[in-house]
Amino acid sequence: MSRFKAIVIGSGAGGAPAAHRLAEQWGDGVAIVEAGKHLLARDLNQSEREMVPKIYAVAGAQGTEDGSVSILQGRAVGGSTLINDAICFRPPPELVDRWSAYGVKLDWDALMTEVAVVEEVMQVSEIPRTMINAANYKLGLGAARLGWHGERLHHNSVGCVQCGYRHIGCSYNAKQSMNLSFVPKALAAGAQLLAETRALSLSPDGDGWTVHTDTQGDLKADIVVVCAGVVQTPRLLLASGIEAGSGVQLHLSTVAWGDFDEVLDPYNGIPMSYGVLEFADVYGRTGPGYVVEGIAVQPVAFSVQPMAEGDATEEILARYRHLAGALSLVRSKARGSIRLGPGNRPVIDYPTIPEDTDRLRHFYQRMTELYLAAGAKRVLLAHGTERWVTKPPSDDLPMIAGGFYQYAAHPFGGACRGTTTDADGRVVGQKNLWVLDGSAFPEAPGVNPQITIASLARIGAGQILAGR
Ligand SMILES: Cc1cc2nc3c(=O)[nH]c(=O)nc-3n(C[C@H](O)[C@H](O)[C@H](O)COP(=O)(O)OP(=O)(O)OC[C@H]3O[C@@H](n4cnc5c(N)ncnc54)[C@H](O)[C@@H]3O)c2cc1C
Repeated sequence: MSRFKAIVIGSGAGGAPAAHRLAEQWGDGVAIVEAGKHLLARDLNQSEREMVPKIYAVAGAQGTEDGSVSILQGRAVGGSTLINDAICFRPPPELVDRWSAYGVKLDWDALMTEVAVVEEVMQVSEIPRTMINAANYKLGLGAARLGWHGERLHHNSVGCVQCGYRHIGCSYNAKQSMNLSFVPKALAAGAQLLAETRALSLSPDGDGWTVHTDTQGDLKADIVVVCAGVVQTPRLLLASGIEAGSGVQLHLSTVAWGDFDEVLDPYNGIPMSYGVLEFADVYGRTGPGYVVEGIAVQPVAFSVQPMAEGDATEEILARYRHLAGALSLVRSKARGSIRLGPGNRPVIDYPTIPEDTDRLRHFYQRMTELYLAAGAKRVLLAHGTERWVTKPPSDDLPMIAGGFYQYAAHPFGGACRGTTTDADGRVVGQKNLWVLDGSAFPEAPGVNPQITIASLARIGAGQILAGR
Protein backbone atom coordinates (compact mmCIF):
# COMPACT_ATOMS: atom_id res chain seq x y z
CA MET A 1 0.00 0.00 0.00
CA SER A 2 1.41 3.40 -0.99
CA ARG A 3 2.10 5.86 1.80
CA PHE A 4 2.50 9.60 1.25
CA LYS A 5 3.37 12.56 3.40
CA ALA A 6 0.36 14.38 1.91
CA ILE A 7 -2.44 13.47 -0.45
CA VAL A 8 -4.27 16.31 -2.18
CA ILE A 9 -7.68 15.25 -3.50
CA GLY A 10 -8.62 17.25 -6.62
CA SER A 11 -6.42 19.19 -9.04
CA GLY A 12 -8.50 22.33 -9.64
CA ALA A 13 -8.12 25.92 -8.47
CA GLY A 14 -7.54 24.84 -4.87
CA GLY A 15 -5.82 21.47 -5.23
CA ALA A 16 -3.14 22.27 -7.81
CA PRO A 17 -1.58 25.30 -6.04
CA ALA A 18 -1.77 23.50 -2.67
CA ALA A 19 -0.05 20.42 -4.14
CA HIS A 20 2.62 22.57 -5.76
CA ARG A 21 3.48 24.36 -2.55
CA LEU A 22 3.60 21.09 -0.58
CA ALA A 23 5.70 19.36 -3.28
CA GLU A 24 8.28 22.14 -3.23
CA GLN A 25 9.18 20.85 0.24
CA TRP A 26 8.07 17.22 0.23
CA GLY A 27 8.67 16.24 -3.42
CA ASP A 28 7.38 12.76 -4.25
CA GLY A 29 5.88 12.53 -0.79
CA VAL A 30 2.93 14.39 -2.30
CA ALA A 31 0.23 12.69 -4.38
CA ILE A 32 -2.57 14.37 -6.30
CA VAL A 33 -5.61 12.12 -6.51
CA GLU A 34 -7.87 13.29 -9.35
CA ALA A 35 -11.08 11.65 -10.51
CA GLY A 36 -10.91 13.06 -14.04
CA LYS A 37 -8.63 12.34 -16.96
CA HIS A 38 -5.33 14.06 -17.70
CA LEU A 39 -6.12 15.55 -21.11
CA LEU A 40 -3.67 17.21 -23.45
CA ALA A 41 -4.37 19.92 -26.01
CA ARG A 42 -4.76 17.30 -28.74
CA ASP A 43 -7.51 15.57 -26.72
CA LEU A 44 -9.58 18.77 -26.53
CA ASN A 45 -11.14 18.48 -29.96
CA GLN A 46 -13.68 21.36 -29.86
CA SER A 47 -16.63 18.99 -30.29
CA GLU A 48 -19.27 19.98 -27.73
CA ARG A 49 -21.01 16.62 -28.04
CA GLU A 50 -17.82 14.73 -27.17
CA MET A 51 -16.17 17.06 -24.68
CA VAL A 52 -19.04 18.09 -22.38
CA PRO A 53 -19.82 14.53 -21.16
CA LYS A 54 -16.09 13.88 -20.79
CA ILE A 55 -14.97 16.93 -18.81
CA TYR A 56 -18.06 18.30 -17.05
CA ALA A 57 -19.27 16.89 -13.72
CA VAL A 58 -22.29 14.61 -14.25
CA ALA A 59 -21.77 15.05 -18.01
CA GLY A 60 -22.93 18.67 -17.69
CA ALA A 61 -26.28 17.68 -16.17
CA GLN A 62 -25.54 18.49 -12.52
CA GLY A 63 -28.12 20.60 -10.73
CA THR A 64 -30.25 21.16 -7.69
CA GLU A 65 -32.68 18.45 -6.67
CA ASP A 66 -35.71 20.56 -7.71
CA GLY A 67 -34.12 21.21 -11.12
CA SER A 68 -34.23 24.98 -10.69
CA VAL A 69 -30.48 25.67 -10.83
CA SER A 70 -27.99 23.95 -13.11
CA ILE A 71 -24.52 23.71 -11.47
CA LEU A 72 -21.50 23.55 -13.78
CA GLN A 73 -18.18 22.09 -12.67
CA GLY A 74 -15.20 20.48 -14.36
CA ARG A 75 -14.01 16.90 -13.97
CA ALA A 76 -10.49 16.49 -15.32
CA VAL A 77 -6.94 17.34 -14.32
CA GLY A 78 -7.23 21.12 -13.82
CA GLY A 79 -10.76 20.81 -12.45
CA SER A 80 -13.18 23.58 -13.35
CA THR A 81 -10.28 25.75 -14.52
CA LEU A 82 -10.01 23.52 -17.62
CA ILE A 83 -13.48 24.62 -18.73
CA ASN A 84 -13.65 28.08 -17.26
CA ASP A 85 -13.67 31.49 -18.95
CA ALA A 86 -10.18 32.35 -17.70
CA ILE A 87 -11.41 35.58 -16.13
CA CYS A 88 -9.29 36.76 -13.21
CA PHE A 89 -10.35 39.08 -10.42
CA ARG A 90 -8.32 39.83 -7.33
CA PRO A 91 -10.08 39.08 -4.03
CA PRO A 92 -12.40 41.99 -3.17
CA PRO A 93 -11.16 43.82 -0.02
CA GLU A 94 -14.73 43.53 1.37
CA LEU A 95 -13.99 39.84 2.11
CA VAL A 96 -11.99 40.85 5.19
CA ASP A 97 -15.03 42.32 6.97
CA ARG A 98 -17.59 39.98 5.47
CA TRP A 99 -15.72 36.82 6.40
CA SER A 100 -14.86 38.08 9.89
CA ALA A 101 -18.59 37.68 10.65
CA TYR A 102 -17.93 33.90 10.42
CA GLY A 103 -14.88 34.10 12.65
CA VAL A 104 -12.54 33.95 9.64
CA LYS A 105 -9.70 36.44 9.96
CA LEU A 106 -8.06 37.05 6.58
CA ASP A 107 -4.49 38.35 6.64
CA TRP A 108 -4.85 40.78 3.71
CA ASP A 109 -1.14 41.34 3.19
CA ALA A 110 -0.41 37.60 3.16
CA LEU A 111 -3.28 37.10 0.72
CA MET A 112 -1.95 39.79 -1.64
CA THR A 113 1.52 38.19 -1.54
CA GLU A 114 0.01 34.90 -2.74
CA VAL A 115 -2.20 36.66 -5.31
CA ALA A 116 0.97 38.05 -6.87
CA VAL A 117 2.49 34.55 -7.10
CA VAL A 118 -0.71 33.07 -8.55
CA GLU A 119 -1.06 35.85 -11.12
CA GLU A 120 2.50 35.33 -12.24
CA VAL A 121 2.23 31.55 -12.56
CA MET A 122 -1.13 31.81 -14.35
CA GLN A 123 0.17 34.68 -16.53
CA VAL A 124 -2.72 37.05 -15.85
CA SER A 125 -3.07 40.13 -18.06
CA GLU A 126 -5.72 42.61 -19.14
CA ILE A 127 -7.52 41.45 -22.28
CA PRO A 128 -6.32 43.73 -25.09
CA ARG A 129 -8.84 46.04 -26.75
CA THR A 130 -8.27 44.21 -30.06
CA MET A 131 -9.48 40.95 -28.50
CA ILE A 132 -12.92 42.23 -27.47
CA ASN A 133 -15.25 40.39 -29.87
CA ALA A 134 -18.26 41.99 -31.53
CA ALA A 135 -20.72 40.70 -28.92
CA ASN A 136 -18.72 41.82 -25.88
CA TYR A 137 -18.18 45.15 -27.61
CA LYS A 138 -21.97 45.70 -27.61
CA LEU A 139 -22.03 45.21 -23.84
CA GLY A 140 -19.34 47.86 -23.45
CA LEU A 141 -21.09 50.19 -25.89
CA GLY A 142 -24.43 50.00 -24.06
CA ALA A 143 -22.76 50.55 -20.67
CA ALA A 144 -20.82 53.55 -22.00
CA ARG A 145 -23.95 55.13 -23.49
CA LEU A 146 -25.76 54.76 -20.16
CA GLY A 147 -22.78 56.02 -18.15
CA TRP A 148 -22.41 52.70 -16.30
CA HIS A 149 -19.04 51.52 -15.06
CA GLY A 150 -17.58 48.83 -17.30
CA GLU A 151 -14.11 47.52 -17.99
CA ARG A 152 -12.08 45.09 -20.05
CA LEU A 153 -11.52 41.98 -17.97
CA HIS A 154 -8.27 40.21 -17.07
CA HIS A 155 -7.55 36.65 -18.19
CA ASN A 156 -4.97 33.91 -17.68
CA SER A 157 -4.16 33.22 -21.29
CA VAL A 158 -1.10 33.81 -23.44
CA GLY A 159 -1.18 33.72 -27.22
CA CYS A 160 -4.95 33.23 -27.29
CA VAL A 161 -6.08 32.48 -30.85
CA GLN A 162 -9.62 33.67 -29.98
CA CYS A 163 -11.26 30.46 -31.21
CA GLY A 164 -14.16 30.75 -28.74
CA TYR A 165 -13.89 27.28 -27.16
CA ARG A 166 -12.75 28.06 -23.62
CA HIS A 167 -15.74 26.17 -22.14
CA ILE A 168 -14.58 22.81 -23.47
CA GLY A 169 -10.88 23.22 -22.85
CA CYS A 170 -8.24 25.19 -24.72
CA SER A 171 -6.89 23.26 -27.71
CA TYR A 172 -3.93 25.60 -28.14
CA ASN A 173 -2.25 25.45 -24.71
CA ALA A 174 -3.00 29.18 -24.40
CA LYS A 175 -5.31 29.24 -21.37
CA GLN A 176 -3.12 28.79 -18.31
CA SER A 177 -5.60 26.62 -16.44
CA MET A 178 -4.27 24.50 -13.57
CA ASN A 179 -3.43 21.59 -15.89
CA LEU A 180 -0.92 23.88 -17.64
CA SER A 181 0.27 25.99 -14.71
CA PHE A 182 0.30 24.68 -11.13
CA VAL A 183 -0.10 20.96 -11.93
CA PRO A 184 3.06 20.81 -14.11
CA LYS A 185 4.91 22.84 -11.47
CA ALA A 186 3.81 20.38 -8.78
CA LEU A 187 4.92 17.44 -10.94
CA ALA A 188 8.26 19.12 -11.67
CA ALA A 189 8.75 19.43 -7.90
CA GLY A 190 8.21 15.68 -7.60
CA ALA A 191 4.49 15.28 -6.85
CA GLN A 192 2.79 12.18 -8.25
CA LEU A 193 -0.42 12.58 -10.22
CA LEU A 194 -2.94 9.76 -9.87
CA ALA A 195 -5.50 10.71 -12.51
CA GLU A 196 -8.72 8.77 -13.11
CA THR A 197 -8.65 7.95 -9.41
CA ARG A 198 -11.69 8.82 -7.37
CA ALA A 199 -11.48 9.17 -3.59
CA LEU A 200 -14.51 7.30 -2.24
CA SER A 201 -14.09 7.95 1.48
CA LEU A 202 -11.50 8.58 4.17
CA SER A 203 -10.83 6.77 7.39
CA PRO A 204 -8.52 7.76 10.24
CA ASP A 205 -5.25 5.84 10.54
CA GLY A 206 -3.51 6.86 13.75
CA ASP A 207 -2.75 10.56 13.28
CA GLY A 208 -2.97 10.13 9.49
CA TRP A 209 -5.56 8.94 6.99
CA THR A 210 -6.42 6.15 4.60
CA VAL A 211 -7.94 7.35 1.35
CA HIS A 212 -10.14 4.64 -0.17
CA THR A 213 -10.12 4.98 -3.96
CA ASP A 214 -11.83 3.26 -6.87
CA THR A 215 -8.79 2.46 -9.03
CA GLN A 216 -5.73 2.58 -6.72
CA GLY A 217 -7.07 0.75 -3.69
CA ASP A 218 -6.23 2.28 -0.30
CA LEU A 219 -3.65 5.06 -0.12
CA LYS A 220 -2.18 6.25 3.17
CA ALA A 221 -1.01 9.72 4.10
CA ASP A 222 0.07 11.70 7.13
CA ILE A 223 -2.00 14.65 5.91
CA VAL A 224 -4.99 14.83 3.56
CA VAL A 225 -6.04 18.04 1.82
CA VAL A 226 -9.51 17.80 0.30
CA CYS A 227 -9.98 20.00 -2.79
CA ALA A 228 -12.62 18.05 -4.70
CA GLY A 229 -14.82 21.10 -5.34
CA VAL A 230 -18.03 22.30 -3.76
CA VAL A 231 -20.25 19.28 -4.41
CA GLN A 232 -17.70 16.51 -4.03
CA THR A 233 -15.72 17.82 -1.03
CA PRO A 234 -18.77 17.79 1.27
CA ARG A 235 -19.88 14.48 -0.30
CA LEU A 236 -16.50 12.93 0.51
CA LEU A 237 -16.54 14.24 4.08
CA LEU A 238 -20.11 13.05 4.65
CA ALA A 239 -19.27 9.63 3.18
CA SER A 240 -16.43 9.50 5.74
CA GLY A 241 -18.74 10.23 8.65
CA ILE A 242 -17.63 13.86 9.01
CA GLU A 243 -20.18 16.64 9.47
CA ALA A 244 -20.41 18.82 6.32
CA GLY A 245 -22.78 20.06 3.64
CA SER A 246 -24.23 23.25 5.06
CA GLY A 247 -23.69 26.87 4.01
CA VAL A 248 -23.72 26.36 0.23
CA GLN A 249 -23.87 29.63 -1.70
CA LEU A 250 -23.98 30.31 -5.42
CA HIS A 251 -23.23 33.13 -7.77
CA LEU A 252 -26.59 32.98 -9.54
CA SER A 253 -26.42 33.45 -13.28
CA THR A 254 -29.13 34.08 -15.79
CA VAL A 255 -28.70 35.51 -19.27
CA ALA A 256 -30.02 38.24 -21.56
CA TRP A 257 -29.19 38.77 -25.24
CA GLY A 258 -29.46 41.89 -27.35
CA ASP A 259 -30.73 41.11 -30.87
CA PHE A 260 -28.88 43.24 -33.43
CA ASP A 261 -29.51 43.70 -37.15
CA GLU A 262 -25.90 43.00 -38.02
CA VAL A 263 -24.24 39.60 -37.80
CA LEU A 264 -22.08 39.40 -34.63
CA ASP A 265 -21.14 35.71 -34.70
CA PRO A 266 -20.79 35.79 -30.90
CA TYR A 267 -19.22 32.30 -30.75
CA ASN A 268 -16.22 33.77 -32.54
CA GLY A 269 -13.54 35.25 -30.28
CA ILE A 270 -13.06 35.30 -26.51
CA PRO A 271 -16.49 34.43 -25.04
CA MET A 272 -16.12 36.67 -21.97
CA SER A 273 -13.96 39.77 -22.16
CA TYR A 274 -15.96 42.76 -20.90
CA GLY A 275 -17.62 43.34 -17.53
CA VAL A 276 -20.06 45.87 -16.06
CA LEU A 277 -19.51 46.53 -12.36
CA GLU A 278 -22.17 49.23 -11.98
CA PHE A 279 -24.41 46.98 -9.85
CA ALA A 280 -21.68 45.23 -7.85
CA ASP A 281 -21.15 45.49 -4.11
CA VAL A 282 -17.42 44.86 -4.18
CA TYR A 283 -14.29 47.03 -4.66
CA GLY A 284 -16.01 49.89 -2.81
CA ARG A 285 -19.12 49.81 -5.01
CA THR A 286 -22.50 49.85 -3.27
CA GLY A 287 -24.84 48.40 -5.90
CA PRO A 288 -27.47 45.71 -5.31
CA GLY A 289 -24.83 43.00 -5.56
CA TYR A 290 -24.19 41.56 -8.99
CA VAL A 291 -21.51 41.70 -11.65
CA VAL A 292 -22.42 41.56 -15.35
CA GLU A 293 -20.12 39.84 -17.84
CA GLY A 294 -20.34 39.33 -21.57
CA ILE A 295 -20.91 35.72 -22.54
CA ALA A 296 -21.02 33.71 -25.72
CA VAL A 297 -21.46 29.98 -26.07
CA GLN A 298 -21.08 27.46 -28.84
CA PRO A 299 -24.25 26.27 -30.62
CA VAL A 300 -25.16 23.20 -28.54
CA ALA A 301 -24.77 25.04 -25.23
CA PHE A 302 -26.77 27.94 -26.66
CA SER A 303 -29.59 25.74 -27.88
CA VAL A 304 -30.32 24.37 -24.39
CA GLN A 305 -30.30 27.74 -22.60
CA PRO A 306 -33.43 29.61 -23.67
CA MET A 307 -36.60 28.79 -21.74
CA ALA A 308 -38.47 27.85 -24.89
CA GLU A 309 -39.78 24.89 -26.83
CA GLY A 310 -40.84 24.16 -30.39
CA ASP A 311 -41.38 27.17 -32.64
CA ALA A 312 -40.11 29.57 -29.97
CA THR A 313 -36.78 27.73 -29.94
CA GLU A 314 -36.55 27.83 -33.71
CA GLU A 315 -37.07 31.58 -33.71
CA ILE A 316 -34.33 32.00 -31.10
CA LEU A 317 -31.88 29.74 -32.91
CA ALA A 318 -32.51 31.61 -36.15
CA ARG A 319 -31.15 34.77 -34.47
CA TYR A 320 -28.07 33.08 -32.92
CA ARG A 321 -25.57 34.91 -35.15
CA HIS A 322 -27.08 38.30 -34.23
CA LEU A 323 -27.17 37.97 -30.44
CA ALA A 324 -24.84 39.63 -27.90
CA GLY A 325 -25.15 37.99 -24.49
CA ALA A 326 -24.55 38.99 -20.88
CA LEU A 327 -24.74 36.95 -17.69
CA SER A 328 -25.34 37.92 -14.10
CA LEU A 329 -23.17 36.90 -11.19
CA VAL A 330 -25.56 37.59 -8.33
CA ARG A 331 -23.90 37.33 -4.91
CA SER A 332 -26.73 35.16 -3.68
CA LYS A 333 -28.09 35.55 -0.16
CA ALA A 334 -29.72 32.11 -0.03
CA ARG A 335 -28.07 29.21 1.77
CA GLY A 336 -28.29 25.73 0.36
CA SER A 337 -27.00 22.34 1.37
CA ILE A 338 -25.50 19.12 0.12
CA ARG A 339 -26.55 15.81 1.61
CA LEU A 340 -26.05 12.17 0.75
CA GLY A 341 -28.72 10.45 -1.31
CA PRO A 342 -28.99 6.76 -2.24
CA GLY A 343 -25.59 5.25 -3.06
CA ASN A 344 -23.88 8.28 -1.47
CA ARG A 345 -25.00 10.41 -4.43
CA PRO A 346 -24.75 14.12 -3.54
CA VAL A 347 -28.13 15.82 -3.36
CA ILE A 348 -28.04 19.61 -3.74
CA ASP A 349 -30.83 21.77 -2.35
CA TYR A 350 -30.89 25.52 -2.96
CA PRO A 351 -33.87 27.72 -2.10
CA THR A 352 -35.12 30.40 -4.49
CA ILE A 353 -35.64 33.51 -2.35
CA PRO A 354 -36.88 37.04 -3.17
CA GLU A 355 -33.58 38.70 -2.15
CA ASP A 356 -32.02 36.81 -5.06
CA THR A 357 -34.83 36.85 -7.62
CA ASP A 358 -35.32 40.60 -7.14
CA ARG A 359 -31.75 41.11 -8.31
CA LEU A 360 -32.09 38.63 -11.19
CA ARG A 361 -35.17 40.61 -12.33
CA HIS A 362 -33.17 43.82 -11.87
CA PHE A 363 -30.53 42.30 -14.18
CA TYR A 364 -33.16 41.56 -16.88
CA GLN A 365 -34.43 45.14 -16.59
CA ARG A 366 -30.99 46.76 -16.77
CA MET A 367 -29.74 44.51 -19.59
CA THR A 368 -32.83 45.39 -21.64
CA GLU A 369 -31.95 49.07 -21.20
CA LEU A 370 -28.31 48.40 -22.00
CA TYR A 371 -28.80 46.47 -25.23
CA LEU A 372 -31.48 48.86 -26.49
CA ALA A 373 -29.04 51.71 -25.79
CA ALA A 374 -26.41 49.81 -27.81
CA GLY A 375 -28.78 49.62 -30.79
CA ALA A 376 -30.50 46.24 -30.38
CA LYS A 377 -33.97 46.08 -31.85
CA ARG A 378 -35.16 43.77 -29.05
CA VAL A 379 -33.78 41.77 -26.13
CA LEU A 380 -34.13 38.05 -25.39
CA LEU A 381 -34.48 37.07 -21.73
CA ALA A 382 -33.92 33.53 -20.44
CA HIS A 383 -37.39 33.61 -18.93
CA GLY A 384 -40.26 31.19 -19.44
CA THR A 385 -42.98 33.70 -20.29
CA GLU A 386 -41.25 37.02 -21.02
CA ARG A 387 -38.85 36.22 -23.87
CA TRP A 388 -38.49 38.91 -26.51
CA VAL A 389 -38.87 42.38 -24.99
CA THR A 390 -38.60 45.90 -26.38
CA LYS A 391 -38.84 47.59 -23.00
CA PRO A 392 -37.60 46.58 -19.53
CA PRO A 393 -39.91 44.05 -17.84
CA SER A 394 -41.94 45.43 -14.95
CA ASP A 395 -41.30 44.84 -11.25
CA ASP A 396 -44.19 42.33 -11.43
CA LEU A 397 -42.26 39.94 -13.68
CA PRO A 398 -42.74 36.56 -11.94
CA MET A 399 -39.47 34.97 -10.86
CA ILE A 400 -40.51 31.51 -9.71
CA ALA A 401 -38.13 28.56 -9.34
CA GLY A 402 -38.18 26.70 -12.65
CA GLY A 403 -39.83 29.63 -14.44
CA PHE A 404 -36.59 31.15 -15.70
CA TYR A 405 -33.14 29.85 -16.59
CA GLN A 406 -30.77 29.88 -13.65
CA TYR A 407 -27.34 28.35 -13.37
CA ALA A 408 -24.17 28.60 -11.31
CA ALA A 409 -20.59 28.07 -12.45
CA HIS A 410 -19.31 29.40 -9.11
CA PRO A 411 -20.62 27.33 -6.20
CA PHE A 412 -19.16 27.89 -2.73
CA GLY A 413 -19.41 26.40 0.76
CA GLY A 414 -20.49 23.01 2.00
CA ALA A 415 -17.33 22.68 4.10
CA CYS A 416 -17.19 26.30 5.26
CA ARG A 417 -14.45 27.97 7.24
CA GLY A 418 -15.92 28.78 10.63
CA THR A 419 -18.16 25.67 10.73
CA THR A 420 -16.80 22.50 9.07
CA THR A 421 -13.25 23.82 9.25
CA ASP A 422 -11.51 26.34 11.43
CA ALA A 423 -10.64 29.79 10.07
CA ASP A 424 -7.65 28.39 8.14
CA GLY A 425 -9.14 25.22 6.64
CA ARG A 426 -8.40 22.50 9.24
CA VAL A 427 -11.40 20.18 9.58
CA VAL A 428 -12.79 20.69 13.07
CA GLY A 429 -12.39 17.71 15.39
CA GLN A 430 -9.99 15.86 13.04
CA LYS A 431 -6.21 15.67 12.95
CA ASN A 432 -4.27 16.45 9.77
CA LEU A 433 -7.32 16.89 7.56
CA TRP A 434 -7.73 20.12 5.60
CA VAL A 435 -10.16 21.62 3.08
CA LEU A 436 -8.56 24.22 0.75
CA ASP A 437 -10.97 24.65 -2.16
CA GLY A 438 -14.06 26.70 -2.95
CA SER A 439 -16.13 24.63 -0.52
CA ALA A 440 -14.28 26.26 2.39
CA PHE A 441 -15.58 29.75 1.47
CA PRO A 442 -17.96 30.90 4.22
CA GLU A 443 -19.65 33.32 1.82
CA ALA A 444 -19.76 33.92 -1.93
CA PRO A 445 -17.14 36.54 -2.86
CA GLY A 446 -19.08 38.37 -5.60
CA VAL A 447 -16.49 38.00 -8.40
CA ASN A 448 -14.98 35.15 -10.42
CA PRO A 449 -13.14 33.20 -7.73
CA GLN A 450 -10.24 31.20 -9.18
CA ILE A 451 -7.51 33.64 -8.09
CA THR A 452 -8.92 33.89 -4.56
CA ILE A 453 -9.30 30.10 -4.24
CA ALA A 454 -5.75 29.48 -5.49
CA SER A 455 -4.21 32.15 -3.24
CA LEU A 456 -5.99 30.88 -0.12
CA ALA A 457 -4.96 27.32 -0.98
CA ARG A 458 -1.32 28.43 -1.12
CA ILE A 459 -1.66 30.09 2.30
CA GLY A 460 -3.18 26.91 3.71
CA ALA A 461 -0.39 24.77 2.25
CA GLY A 462 2.13 27.13 3.81
CA GLN A 463 0.50 26.61 7.20
CA ILE A 464 0.60 22.84 6.74
CA LEU A 465 4.33 23.03 5.97
CA ALA A 466 4.93 25.25 8.97
CA GLY A 467 3.16 22.63 11.12
CA ARG A 468 0.71 25.25 12.32
C1 LIG B 1 -18.05 27.02 -17.13
C2 LIG B 1 -17.28 27.67 -16.02
C3 LIG B 1 -16.72 28.93 -16.22
C4 LIG B 1 -16.01 29.55 -15.18
N1 LIG B 1 -15.36 30.73 -15.42
C5 LIG B 1 -14.55 31.25 -14.47
C6 LIG B 1 -13.74 32.37 -14.73
O1 LIG B 1 -13.71 32.89 -15.86
N2 LIG B 1 -12.96 32.86 -13.73
C7 LIG B 1 -12.96 32.32 -12.48
O2 LIG B 1 -12.29 32.85 -11.60
N3 LIG B 1 -13.70 31.24 -12.20
C8 LIG B 1 -14.47 30.68 -13.17
N4 LIG B 1 -15.16 29.53 -12.91
C9 LIG B 1 -15.13 28.98 -11.54
C10 LIG B 1 -13.79 28.38 -11.13
O3 LIG B 1 -13.19 27.68 -12.20
C11 LIG B 1 -14.05 27.47 -9.92
O4 LIG B 1 -14.67 28.25 -8.91
C12 LIG B 1 -12.79 26.87 -9.36
O5 LIG B 1 -12.09 26.13 -10.34
C13 LIG B 1 -13.16 25.95 -8.19
O6 LIG B 1 -11.97 25.43 -7.64
P1 LIG B 1 -12.04 24.15 -6.70
O7 LIG B 1 -10.65 23.74 -6.42
O8 LIG B 1 -12.96 24.43 -5.58
O9 LIG B 1 -12.77 23.02 -7.59
P2 LIG B 1 -12.47 22.49 -9.05
O10 LIG B 1 -11.62 23.44 -9.80
O11 LIG B 1 -13.79 22.15 -9.65
O12 LIG B 1 -11.62 21.16 -8.84
C14 LIG B 1 -12.15 20.04 -8.18
C15 LIG B 1 -11.46 18.81 -8.73
O13 LIG B 1 -11.71 17.70 -7.87
C16 LIG B 1 -11.93 16.54 -8.66
N5 LIG B 1 -12.70 15.59 -7.85
C17 LIG B 1 -13.99 15.68 -7.50
N6 LIG B 1 -14.33 14.63 -6.73
C18 LIG B 1 -13.22 13.88 -6.58
C19 LIG B 1 -12.94 12.69 -5.89
N7 LIG B 1 -13.87 12.07 -5.15
N8 LIG B 1 -11.69 12.16 -5.97
C20 LIG B 1 -10.72 12.79 -6.70
N9 LIG B 1 -10.94 13.94 -7.38
C21 LIG B 1 -12.17 14.48 -7.30
C22 LIG B 1 -12.67 17.07 -9.86
O14 LIG B 1 -12.59 16.17 -10.96
C23 LIG B 1 -11.96 18.40 -10.12
O15 LIG B 1 -10.87 18.21 -10.98
C24 LIG B 1 -15.88 28.89 -13.92
C25 LIG B 1 -16.44 27.63 -13.73
C26 LIG B 1 -17.12 27.02 -14.77
C27 LIG B 1 -17.71 25.65 -14.54
